[in-house]
Amino acid sequence: MVFQSLGIIDSILKAIQEEGYTSPTPIQTQAIPIVLQGNDLLGCAQTGTGKTAAFAIPILQLLSVNKQYNKKKTIRSLIVTPTRELAIQIGESFKAYGRHTGLTCTVIFGGVNQNPQTAALRIGVDILIATPGRLLDLMNQGHLTLNNVEIFVLDEADRMLDMGFIHDVKRMLAALPKKKQSLFFSATMPPEIVKLSGTILQNPSKVSVTPVSSTVDIIKQFIYFVDKGNKNDLLIDILKNTAIKTALVFTRTKHGADKVVKVLLKHAIKAEAIHGNKSQNARQRALTNFKDQTTRILVATDIAARGIDVDELEYVINYEMSNIAETYVHRIGRTGRAGAKGTAYSFCDAEEKEYLRDIEKLISKKIPVFENHPFPLMDHNPVKAIKQAGGGGNSWGHSRPKSAGNNNQKKKFGNSKYAR
Ligand code: AMP
Repeated sequence: MVFQSLGIIDSILKAIQEEGYTSPTPIQTQAIPIVLQGNDLLGCAQTGTGKTAAFAIPILQLLSVNKQYNKKKTIRSLIVTPTRELAIQIGESFKAYGRHTGLTCTVIFGGVNQNPQTAALRIGVDILIATPGRLLDLMNQGHLTLNNVEIFVLDEADRMLDMGFIHDVKRMLAALPKKKQSLFFSATMPPEIVKLSGTILQNPSKVSVTPVSSTVDIIKQFIYFVDKGNKNDLLIDILKNTAIKTALVFTRTKHGADKVVKVLLKHAIKAEAIHGNKSQNARQRALTNFKDQTTRILVATDIAARGIDVDELEYVINYEMSNIAETYVHRIGRTGRAGAKGTAYSFCDAEEKEYLRDIEKLISKKIPVFENHPFPLMDHNPVKAIKQAGGGGNSWGHSRPKSAGNNNQKKKFGNSKYAR
């Protein structure tokens, strides 16, 4: 399958070629013709599948066909997405794919001074990408109107609900014209999401790609059983491997992220944290430094990491296991994107074993255990140890290296370990 066979116009084909895309991803193959026909769409897909281009390309095409009608530059397409990072990335995609169309777009999000955003809106744009809070805010201040929106996209609807944006979304929906084309994307489809989609879409065509469990198949995954108190040492030891040019490290809390950064800096490993307590500018700077490899390690919490899209990111390290199994899939999905190589290491202490069990159930496979590392799990969790009295090993039947007494005893990693 090639992009030409989807009926895409030359100006966009040229840009796609410049991006280096050779063939459409499954969601693009399915969604682009539906959107070009003017139909509503219900898409079940997560980031990493090429979902952004699946809506950006046909929107640009539909708008560029009638470009002459928008001399006054009113907002003709609105894309609403839950996080600033996603909004920025979607904006970059529209700019890239639309660079030969003459259409304009801008991105608005909270946490930064609104003046540059309102200045861009005053000049006028064809496409607006926004997070819900700032959108409503600027709308209420009279800086924008949604009266002329022809194509509306609600992106990452499930995340929107998780982050408590449902009321903002409903208020925004009320400000949109009745007659419009609507596209609705969500990684999961719980009943509340299906209900919400029913209030937005009319006779939607449905597309669904890569259910959560199959996206992880191309990513090499390993579990390191390790005591909580040894996670820093294990991380430092792993990062001695110079083949790891950059890695995204996940912690559960903002405080935890800051602590890991401190430890890494102490060991002369350039690291920065990205989480909700950082200003938008600091987050953007950290992301840019990471992308150009000035910073080797980016330590992130889950919400901040959603939407981090770094080409050629090969390593994700879960410093802490997530207590929500789906989050594991989203985390490791930051690597191995668009068919690239990916490796995910997860540190699992005694208390986190139950999270691991949930994850393995969700992805329907056992994650291989990295044996013989210098910091094997020694703490068998006293409470559980009593319950499981006599039960050695772990509950997945992997043989763990028998710890030979001293926890701090450091065996050197053989390079071959990393060659996998
Ligand atoms: P998304 O799911 O929209 O977050 O996209 C994931 C990544 O895939 C982004 O880095 C895109 O640049 C890339 N991508 C999207 N479509 C294609 C394609 N047809 N071929 C290669 N890479 C793509």
